[in-house]
Amino acid sequence: MLVCIDAGHAESTAGKRSFDGTLREYEFNRAVAKRLKYHLERHGIKTIYSCDLETSKDISLSTRCKTANNAKADLFISIHANAYGTTWNSANGWEIFIYKGSAEGKKLAEEIRKESIALLKLKDRGIKTDSLYVTNHTKMTAVLVEHGFYTNKEECAKLKDTAFREKCAIADAKGILSYLGIAWKDENATEPKKTIYKVQCGAFVNKQNAETLKAELKAAGYEATIVKVQ
Ligand SMILES: [Zn+2]
Repeated sequence: MLVCIDAGHAESTAGKRSFDGTLREYEFNRAVAKRLKYHLERHGIKTIYSCDLETSKDISLSTRCKTANNAKADLFISIHANAYGTTWNSANGWEIFIYKGSAEGKKLAEEIRKESIALLKLKDRGIKTDSLYVTNHTKMTAVLVEHGFYTNKEECAKLKDTAFREKCAIADAKGILSYLGIAWKDENATEPKKTIYKVQCGAFVNKQNAETLKAELKAAGYEATIVKVQ
């Protein structure tokens, strides 16, 4: 299973910033993309980016789609934040785009939608089928997620917040995993601790005595290790 993660835009993309200039959309997209990659990979899913996330160059949509198609990715997810109007306004909410008529795209979008609305608590603008370049030109099941509006003051503040970005990445990861039938594991979930039994043969204050016993054990065919205990 290979997921291609597409972080929309770059530093040199015209526009795509909040009216006060404090948020560039590409920064949000890249931050979420990196955390999405992390969460998918710790669940055993392979990922690639559609372009270098450190570049300031605006990578064309056709290059991004070609990268996904050439790598034969199974899924494609494009990360964005939304914009509307020419001054701060009330347009708000979360939405996702799929290729019109794609049954798998709809299934994947439904899973991401369920997780996102629950976690991000944004208005649900639903699943849209507008014709978009990346959903049209990728050969695999593809979605494009708009994680709120940076042209809305309240949502712009959220989009700048690291904790909110993490929630976006988790919602996207949970949706993808749920679509794939893989159970989500919390990051700090630890494996149950196993009891182990150590065999001790001696304990000395003088290190030379420990070395002597170790040599004797070795000569007798046992592996021995000296452990320093403070
Ligand atoms: Zn965008």
